[in-house]
Amino acid sequence: MNIDKIVILSLKHFTLSSIIEVAIPVPLHNTFDYLCDQKVSIGARVKVPFGQKKVTAIVLSHKQKSDFEKLRPVEKVLDQKSLLSKEILDFLFWSAKYYHHPLGEVLASALPKNLREGKPADIKKTSAHKNTLSPVTFDATTEQSKAIKSVLKSENNFHGFLLHGVTGSGKTEVYLSIAQALLKKGRQILVLVPEIGLTPQMIARFEERVGAKVVAVHSQLNETQKLDAYLMAKNGEAGVVLGTRSAIFTPMPNLGLVIVDEEHDGSFKQQTSFRYSARDLSFMRAKLANIPLILGTATPSLETLKNVVDKKLKRLVLSSRPGQAIMPEVNLIDMRNQTVEALSVPLVAKMKHYLEDNKQVMLFINRRGYSPVLMCGACAWQADCPQCDTHLSYHLKPRAILQCHHCNYMQPVPKVCPACNHEELLPIGHGTARIEESLNQLFPDYPVIRVDRDTTTRQDSWQKIYQRAHRSGAAIFLGTQMLAKGHHFPYVSLVTILDIDAGLMSADFRAPERTAQLIMQVAGRAGRGQIKGEVLLQSLRPDHPLLQSLGTKGYASFSKQALAERKIGHLPPYRYCVLIRAESQNELYNVDFLQFALQHWASFGEAEVDVWVAMAI
Ligand SMILES: [Zn+2]
Ligand SMILES: [Zn+2]
Repeated sequence: MNIDKIVILSLKHFTLSSIIEVAIPVPLHNTFDYLCDQKVSIGARVKVPFGQKKVTAIVLSHKQKSDFEKLRPVEKVLDQKSLLSKEILDFLFWSAKYYHHPLGEVLASALPKNLREGKPADIKKTSAHKNTLSPVTFDATTEQSKAIKSVLKSENNFHGFLLHGVTGSGKTEVYLSIAQALLKKGRQILVLVPEIGLTPQMIARFEERVGAKVVAVHSQLNETQKLDAYLMAKNGEAGVVLGTRSAIFTPMPNLGLVIVDEEHDGSFKQQTSFRYSARDLSFMRAKLANIPLILGTATPSLETLKNVVDKKLKRLVLSSRPGQAIMPEVNLIDMRNQTVEALSVPLVAKMKHYLEDNKQVMLFINRRGYSPVLMCGACAWQADCPQCDTHLSYHLKPRAILQCHHCNYMQPVPKVCPACNHEELLPIGHGTARIEESLNQLFPDYPVIRVDRDTTTRQDSWQKIYQRAHRSGAAIFLGTQMLAKGHHFPYVSLVTILDIDAGLMSADFRAPERTAQLIMQVAGRAGRGQIKGEVLLQSLRPDHPLLQSLGTKGYASFSKQALAERKIGHLPPYRYCVLIRAESQNELYNVDFLQFALQHWASFGEAEVDVWVAMAI
């Protein structure tokens, strides 16, 4: 036997078999230790045995010793180099801590599925989007130039800006100019948008203008596209990354600017499993990278306005619409005098007027499906969701079905009333599908384009909507608030919100804010370009203070008042809110747990904490 060889082998074993600490995507707050006999970097993926399964874990640290005696060995090292850089790891650690969510799940949620499943980190097809650079220049208004200069002045520092621009004031031009300047210096730009539907539009604007590769990150891409976009961002090849909320976790080594467009939008909040607000996280992302952050909107959220007051954000204002565009007139239709439920007589008359004049009309109702309630005509039984405390929505197409819009529970429509066997079940209230039916009857000569989650599931559906919107000629657009988000409809002259009362009378403390934002956003859809627009709101409460103050004094005055009310009411953004929610098949467990939590809370003796208890039984 060769003695030298034995010595070398044992030495090798001695120096390389070490302990590593890893994060595993399980709902547990601790990390796990394994033995590893290969060289492995922090931030790399390893395959490890966990219980009976094999899972993909992320290496967090090398350790000298572990608190556990029997450690299992790593099965395979998946990445030779670190996949998650220190910068992105720090950001993810902070996020997990801030939202009290298990680290392993947070790390996993930041990776594309292919990487979570342990597939190789290789790019399949580099050029996701063609770059057709044309040297477009634009004449910035004084306000736009001022905004661009302000942001560029802090290009190497963390600084938050609110770009507060009325709809049509050219916020995107400001984004593009700043991005262009930073890209020239080799920096990368991260742009968050609220809707997948908005990405193609925004990508096109960036591609037209900047000399860099633009990649999209959103849920409608296939897994290969998602992985390619992620890796191109990570290796610095992509200059611009554009995506919905989860794009906030994209690794970008040369990140130079974060933009959150339509920052007031609720969809930046993830409401399931790892709950986070991408808008709020954008502050920390920019802070860690020491770069500027821009939150853009025409209707800032109250949280953002408070940040302006507290000097955490600097407000940059774009108050005018470039060119000749005029802001629309906002009028109310008093529904107390109307016998019809959804489309009032004055509204139908107005629509007819605009359509006959070859103009386009847009209607909003924030309920999809046929009707929000199905009720028995004899005993008033209503179809309710067995999992939530809401009514099931009635859908007629593609097949008759009852669906819960909260948890997605579905069931067939009963032929007779389950409570009294009566044969007549009545749809109560109106969803987009039912309004579409009425519109087709009222205006058989004009096309009706419905835009809601049921009609936009296909990848090309938005494309078709845009094509119609960019062609002149009478048409009716009907949709949920999905339609209000930043899309450009140059030929629309009349915009209507059919169910404004739903927002005015909701129990949610944020409902008035959202309603005011919706009205302003919707008003922004009317009369762009040379055409003066008109906004009509149908309401049973035309004297409601919100409608009055918005109509006469505008959003700034409304938001000031709303912030003052939040302060008096001890509500966010002045206080933090924590929701403790119990869900169990057994009602008693829920009550027991909540009572335990309540007593536990009281034992803290914390005078500053108000506890509200609500139980839906
Ligand atoms: Zn009945
Ligand atoms: Zn449900």
